[in-house]
Amino acid sequence: EQLREVLDSAKGQDTGGGDDDPRISPQAEALWQAVYEDELVLHFQPKVRMDTGALVGAEALVRWDHPCHGLLMPDRFLDLMEAHGLMDELTMRVLRGALATCRGWLEQGLDLHMAVNISATNLHVLGLPDVVQHTAREAGVPINCLCLELTERMLARDRLLSLDILTRLRLKGASLSIDDFGTGHSSLAQLLQAPFDELKLDRSFVHGATRDPARLAIAEASLRMARKLGMQTTAEGIERAEDWQLLRDMGCDRAQGHFIAPAMPADAFPAWMEDWDRRREALTGAHPEPG
Ligand code: C2E
Ligand code: MG
Ligand code: MG
Ligand code: MG
Repeated sequence: EQLREVLDSAKGQDTGGGDDDPRISPQAEALWQAVYEDELVLHFQPKVRMDTGALVGAEALVRWDHPCHGLLMPDRFLDLMEAHGLMDELTMRVLRGALATCRGWLEQGLDLHMAVNISATNLHVLGLPDVVQHTAREAGVPINCLCLELTERMLARDRLLSLDILTRLRLKGASLSIDDFGTGHSSLAQLLQAPFDELKLDRSFVHGATRDPARLAIAEASLRMARKLGMQTTAEGIERAEDWQLLRDMGCDRAQGHFIAPAMPADAFPAWMEDWDRRREALTGAHPEPG
C-alpha cells in the first residue's frame, strides 16, 4: 500500500499528473517521444555525376528537432536510439519519409534514387525485404529507386542472416551501397560477401587524397577495385574545387559533399537545383538539359 502511494505521488510529480511510468528515465522517454511523436526530420543531400554534374540521387539524413536543444545531428542520438531498441522504428520512419519525398520528386519528373542509411541492427528481421518492398509499393515508388546504404560492421553479429536479408533486398530490386569505405567499419571481405552496387569512399580519403600520397594511393586503389567489381563509385565529403577535380580525374563516378550541397530540407531542393545547373556547366562544360 505504502509503495503504491509513493509510486502514485512520484507519477504526479514526474509528469504533472500524466500516466507515464515513473520508472522510465527521462532520457528514454525523450528518445521514445522523438521517434513516436514525429520529432525526427529528414534532410537530403544530393548525389551528382562527376562527368556531367547531373543529379542522380539524394541521401536521406535524419535529424532530431529537439523541443529544447533544437536540431540535433545523428551522431548525438543514433547510438542512444540503438541502445534503447528504437532503431527499427527509426529506420521505418526514415524509410517512409524518404520514399514520400522521393514520390514527390518522381511526380515532378525528376529521375533520381533515394538513399536511406540502414543500421546493422536492422538486419535481424528476416521479413525486412518484404517490409521494404511493401513500404515502397505503398509510397508509390519503384523499389529500384531505393538505395540502402550500409555503414558499421553490418555483418558482424549474425553474418548469415544479414547476408540473407541483403541478398533478398537486392533481388527485390533495391540497390545496396557500402558506406564509409576505407574506415574500420567497412572492409574488403564485405565486398565479396554481399552484392553491392555502389562503393562510397569515406571522406577522410577524399580530403586526404589532395595532401597525402598514402591516402591518394588507397583512394585510387579503392576506386579501381570497385570498378572492376562492376560497382558505381561515389566520393563523399567533396568540400573544395580541388577535391572535385582530383576525384573526377581519378575516374570517380559520383560525388557528394558541401562543395555540391550540404544536406537540406526537401523544400530547399528546387532553389539548389537552379543554382547547381549554373555552377555545373562551368564545372563540367555540360549544358543543363532543357526543361
Ligand atoms: P553518412 O551516411 O556517411 O553520411 C554522410 C555524413 O557526412 C552526413 O552527416 C553529411 O551531412 C556529412 N557530410 C556530407 N558532405 C560533407 C562534407 O563535404 N564535409 C563534411 N565534413 N561532412 C559532410 P550526418 O547527417 O551528421 O550523418 C552522420 C552519419 O549518421 C551518417 O553518415 C550515417 O552513418 C548516420 N545516419 C544519418 N541518418 C541516418 C539514418 O536515417 N539512419 C541511420 N541508421 N543512420 C543515419
Ligand atoms: Mg550514408
Ligand atoms: Mg558515408
Ligand atoms: Mg560517414
